[in-house]
Amino acid sequence: MKITAAVVREKGTPFVLEEAELDQPQPQEVLVRIVATGICHTDMVIRNQQMAAPLPMVLGHEGAGVVEAIGHEVTEVAVGDHVVLTFGYCGKCDSCREGFPTYCEHMLEHNFAGSRPDGSHRIHQHATPDLHDSFFSQSSFATYAVAHENNTIKVPKDVPLELLGPLGCGIQTGAGAVLNSLNVPAGSSIAIFGTGAVGLAAVMAAGVAEATTIIAIDINDARLALAKELGATHTINSKTGNVVEEIQKITGKGTHFAFDTTGRPEIIRTAVQGLRTHGVCGMVGVTAPDKEITFGPNDIMVAGRTLKGILQGDSVPSIFIPRLIALYKKGQFPFDKLVKFYEFDQINEAAEDSEKGITIKPILRIGKVGA
Ligand SMILES: [Zn+2]
Ligand SMILES: [Zn+2]
Repeated sequence: MKITAAVVREKGTPFVLEEAELDQPQPQEVLVRIVATGICHTDMVIRNQQMAAPLPMVLGHEGAGVVEAIGHEVTEVAVGDHVVLTFGYCGKCDSCREGFPTYCEHMLEHNFAGSRPDGSHRIHQHATPDLHDSFFSQSSFATYAVAHENNTIKVPKDVPLELLGPLGCGIQTGAGAVLNSLNVPAGSSIAIFGTGAVGLAAVMAAGVAEATTIIAIDINDARLALAKELGATHTINSKTGNVVEEIQKITGKGTHFAFDTTGRPEIIRTAVQGLRTHGVCGMVGVTAPDKEITFGPNDIMVAGRTLKGILQGDSVPSIFIPRLIALYKKGQFPFDKLVKFYEFDQINEAAEDSEKGITIKPILRIGKVGA
């Protein structure tokens, strides 16, 4: 079938809306009419080739839409269901079977190869035989996408579908880090470094978990003000003070938990140094492979601290995304406050606003909920 897709042709170049052909779903796949899709930092990382993935490619990995057709082996969703698309995984490796699909041993093939894991393509274009697709097993910067049923999550129809795509990546990453990976208990303290979509989702989740000291750290005062509105009890502008000292002043002993969303080695070190004895720091930021974090061994060992890598908030999406929607409906997780909507043909403006920090979470409107 004919679709319109946003193609990135070369490193760092704008998205171009082009016509292409999309395959019908294979037996375990789902055809989704995309209603809206978030833009996430990882889309920019690939566009700018800070992480390897083949171009030209159709990116987009926070799709939300309506199921139009299903392969004959699909049991998870039916035609007409509202769905959120999330990361792909195999479902069969040790990590998947242990309940950690975010560490699927075949993560790269399912999300970054630019094709299905078997090397075949879902999207085709006569003029571009080497066009790549299946980004996060979806490539949702398009009017329609084919996903695997594994990464197609049914969501309720009484919430605005156009809002839900970011639950499939950025929002579940921040919220899941707090609620799943760090498992922050009521009455504890957490320092959250970076107040983009992931960090602010973590702030809200820390409120859900009833952490009683929630410190948001950034260099952007407007973001810090929003962090307070969303539940931060304290904020630190890291331009104007020594962050470890400020954390000590607020907590006395340091925080029980820290969460880094920046991926910057010096900030991760600060996050660890701001922990109290036996504290745990989670990290999710994408970092260039040649960067190194330096610690004194005693920063970790003597204080009994833990530094933990986290992907996608350790979430099992079919369980965690509906939980976040339930919290949103109760008013406890107002992630809509992070969102600004753009039309599909404003994709370059949306991406630029996101990179400049003008917009926290851009969402592209691509189709209507009712056909
Ligand atoms: Zn993402
Ligand atoms: Zn797996």
